Amino acid sequence: MEKIALVTGGSRGIGAATALALAARGWTVHVNYLKFRDKAEAIAAKTGGVAVQADVADSDAVARMAEITGPVALLVNNAGIALRGGLLTDVTDDAWNRLLDVNVGGMFRCSRAYIPGMVHRKAGQIINLASILGVMGGSCEAPYSATKGAVIAFTKALAKELGPSGIRVNAVAPGMIDTDMTAAITGEDRADLAESTAMCRIGTPEDVAEMIALLAEPGTGFVTGQVIGIDGGLVL
Ligand code: NAP
Repeated sequence: MEKIALVTGGSRGIGAATALALAARGWTVHVNYLKFRDKAEAIAAKTGGVAVQADVADSDAVARMAEITGPVALLVNNAGIALRGGLLTDVTDDAWNRLLDVNVGGMFRCSRAYIPGMVHRKAGQIINLASILGVMGGSCEAPYSATKGAVIAFTKALAKELGPSGIRVNAVAPGMIDTDMTAAITGEDRADLAESTAMCRIGTPEDVAEMIALLAEPGTGFVTGQVIGIDGGLVL
């Protein structure tokens, strides 16, 4: 099967680094985005794919995206959002619903759209972005932690469903990574988070991207249903 991939949320952060890491290994990578067209187009120009605008929380938009890109051998469900950390009692219905719609619903909709092309070829891979918070939970991060716990359960269940069709499904669970999503965590809080890892540092988007690109290699063909921590030894 041709090495064609789609990275959702590929315009910035971990998604952009992943698209570039895959391209360096010979993949053609389509780049999905929500708002930042210029950034997505700049990445797609380097990865040989197209930049496709689609809100992963919108089923029609995802279906249109799948028509534009055609089938892919690798789907990286990376698009995600976080809430500003705070007490659960302050979380509104709208914020909760949007978080679920993007972080869990987006993964569901994109998987549903691209699985038929993989099943047809009896080959393919899906790699989902979980988080270490989906494993250990984070104080004042209950809704986000819940979405990432759901990503993990979805990954394991789908791996069982699709294994007989030759399709692998894995997740990566990053610790704190230096992107726009975590830019508001500064000063002492940031230093404390770095110190809590065995490697004594915050991760880079490339740390995550390299592991995703490695998982996409055929040599990892017996790895499925796994959640790979990329957290500098935070959770051991
Ligand atoms: P980021 O820098 O905030 O980038 C988010 C990306 O997702 C952007 O490309 C954005 O597109 C896209 N996006 C957001 N909502 C979307 C939607 N509804 N439809 C389509 N695209 C959408 O985030 P990041 O830190 O790279 O995080 C990437 C993934 O890793 C997320 O799933 C996140 O939960 C997970 N993660 C991050 C960390 C961390 O510490 N950063 C840790 C663990 C897990 P635009 O550029 O067009 O807005």
